Order: sequence, then structure tokens, then C-alpha cells
Amino acid sequence: MYDVLIIGGGLSGLTNAIQLSAAGLNVLLVEKNIYPFHRVCGEYVSNEVKPFLMSIGVDVERLRPAYIDKLTVTSPYGTKLETKLDMGAFGISRYAFDLHLYHHAIKNGCVTKLNIQVHEVIFHEDCFTIKLSDGSEEKAKIVLGSYGKRTNLDRSLERKFFYRRSPYIGVKYHIKTDFPRDRIALHNFKDGYCGISAIEDDKYCFCYLTTRENLKKSGTVEEMEKTILHKNPNLKDIFENSEFLFAKPEIINEISFEKKTTVENHILMSGDSAGMIAPLCGNGMSMAIHSAKILSECILKHYTKEKFVRGNLEKEYSQLWNNTFSKRLYIGRKIQQLFGQEFMTEAVVRSLRLMPPVTNWLVKQTHGKEF
Ligand SMILES: Cc1cc2nc3c(=O)[nH]c(=O)nc-3n(C[C@H](O)[C@H](O)[C@H](O)COP(=O)(O)OP(=O)(O)OC[C@H]3O[C@@H](n4cnc5c(N)ncnc54)[C@H](O)[C@@H]3O)c2cc1C
Repeated sequence: MYDVLIIGGGLSGLTNAIQLSAAGLNVLLVEKNIYPFHRVCGEYVSNEVKPFLMSIGVDVERLRPAYIDKLTVTSPYGTKLETKLDMGAFGISRYAFDLHLYHHAIKNGCVTKLNIQVHEVIFHEDCFTIKLSDGSEEKAKIVLGSYGKRTNLDRSLERKFFYRRSPYIGVKYHIKTDFPRDRIALHNFKDGYCGISAIEDDKYCFCYLTTRENLKKSGTVEEMEKTILHKNPNLKDIFENSEFLFAKPEIINEISFEKKTTVENHILMSGDSAGMIAPLCGNGMSMAIHSAKILSECILKHYTKEKFVRGNLEKEYSQLWNNTFSKRLYIGRKIQQLFGQEFMTEAVVRSLRLMPPVTNWLVKQTHGKEF
């Protein structure tokens, strides 16, 4: 019987694993992939996470990230808006970042099962039975759902958002190119936007979000890039003058920004499983780490092996999660709606150029505070 079983070892799962095993709990983390591996993500991490990561012994400086404190936004026709980022960020690949956190979790005593998927979670008589893809079963007092934006577990839990198809897909490359290493650029195109920012080892993450419809119309990713993304002259230049380091792009679909619940069948959701912010707001990773901090602290406050009132833990976690993230997610959804339509984006970029204080205010709303 584990104290805690964590489903999914992305940023939220690994951060929970590090904290809970450091506190002496018996923790099992189940991850369907094997570290290190690439994921679709812009790899721009807001500096707000740094004090907390240091407090749990994670020193990101050792990974030699890039430092980013400037932002460029361009409209689909290439109109440019430039501003400073007060909070700033670091650029690191998920390949390196997740592996680093995984090593920390192991060092703290967390047990892991890699290359194995959680198939089913049954809650009975105040205890969980978890069925795994290798045919084995595990038992745990507490289960954390940190399995990301959408999986079959959401279907078996009958979560409402699962039945509403999302129009979005994400595509990512690592490239070598000529671009300032202290700047993130968000280049808009018809029904999508593409970010470029530096990561470790002189490389850049080049990642975009667009609609399934854009891909369907074009037939292939390559054709879509040529006929739609290239219309923004900044993107055309990057595509034509960069070295692409992957044999083929990483692609994901069904990226949903719909409202979710924080507790489902007594499973405590963390990171994207609890709610995903639009990548335009740049902060899903720091939210995943922050939500893991809140959740682990709640578990450590309410859980002892002898005495444990599950309802109190669930109630307090849900309240804290909503107080911390609901407003940010709401603003994220609104900002996401402003972009994508060509004329609207052009108008927004042109107006913001004339109103630097409004631009700064908008950027501030999408970043949290140090925690
Ligand atoms: C196009 C795009 C660009 C983005 N850019 C940025 C950015 O620049 N900055 C930023 O801060 N955020 C960005 N984000 C958001 C960010 O990637 C996520 O918010 C973040 O990865 C969430 O972390 P997580 O731990 O919740 O989930 P994930 O990192 O997705 O981890 C979930 C893990 O669960 C595993 N898993 C799933 N199902 C199972 C199962 N049944 N059994 C076992 N394991 C399972 C998966 O393999 C995965 O490892 C972007 C997102 C997209 C789509």
C-alpha cells in the first residue's frame, strides 16, 4: 500500500513526487514514457517558479538555460510589437528539465514505474486500486491525477470536457538559427501563433498552436507551413534560414482550454489535468509546478498514516486551486480569443503599439507572482 500514487510524470507529477517523498511518504510515480523524451511545449518557463524550485533543492542553473526578458509579438502580416518582460523567464527543453526533476524524485526515495500506463482507478472502502498496462495492480491511500491535458482516464471518469472536441493541435521543433537569445517572439498567422525562444546548448524551441481545420485544408504539416505560416514574413524567414534538428516534428492534438474539476472520484488533479492555460499566456509549466506545490502542502497538512479526513483535504485543495488560478485561466481564455483572426490580431497589435502601459498590464496578467 503506497501513501500516494501519482499518475503521470510531467512537471506537476514530478514536483509532487519530489515534495512528498522528501517528507517521508511512500510514493509511486507511474509514467507511460521513459525519460528523457521530447514533448510539445514552448519551453519558456516564467521566473516565478525559481524560488520554489530552489526551496525543494532543484537548481535549474545547472542545466544552463537561456535567460529571456524581452518579448516580440507580430501580426499575421508582420506588424511588430516589442516590450520588456518584467518577470522574465528561462528557456530549457522539457527533455532536460523533466529528466532533472526525475533524478531528484528518485534521490528523495520516490519509486517509479516507467513505460507503463495507468488503465483504471477504482476507489473502494477509502482506498484506491490502480490497474496498470503490464497487468499488475497497485494500492494507494491517495491518487494524484497529473496525466496532462487529456487521456482515456478522463473518459472513464466521464469528465465533461472529454466529450467536447478541441479544435487545436500543437507542433514543435528544435532548431539552430540566428535569433537573440534573450527574446521570445510570438508570431501570429491565420488561426494560430508560433513561439520561438532560446533553450540550452545554443538551440531554440520553435513551437506553434493552430487548428485541426488548417491542417485538414492543407493536407500535410509541411504544406500547411508553406501556405499558411509562411504568410507571416518573420516565420517564412525562420523556416527558410534555420537548421531543423528533429527528423520530424513532435505533434499533439486535442488541446483543450475548457474548465475542469480539481477532484474527480477522489483523485486529486494537478497541472493540466486540473486546468490548462492557453500557451499564448506562456505559463502552463509554472502553473503545473505551482499547483503541485499547493497540492503537496495540502496533503502534508491533512494526511497521516493513522488519521486522515479525505473530505477536508479535497475541500481545501479545491478552494486553494480556484483562488490561485481561476482568474488567470479566465484571462488566458479571453486573450486566446483576441488572436487567430487575421484582422483582429492586426488591430490588437497595432493598438497595443500605441499603448505600452496596456501592453505591460496584459503581460502582467498572464504571469503569476513568485511563489
Ligand atoms: C503548443 C504548446 C506550447 C506550450 N508552451 C508553453 C510554454 O512555452 N511555457 C509554459 O509554461 N507552458 C507551455 N505550454 C503548457 C505546458 O506544456 C503544460 O501546461 C505543462 O506541460 C503541464 O504539465 P503537466 O505535468 O500537467 O502535464 P504534462 O507535462 O503533459 O505531463 C503529463 C504526463 O502524464 C503522462 N501520462 C498521461 N497519461 C498517463 C497514464 N494513463 N499513465 C501514466 N502516465 C500518463 C504523460 O506521458 C506525461 O508525461 C504549452 C502547451 C502547448 C500545447
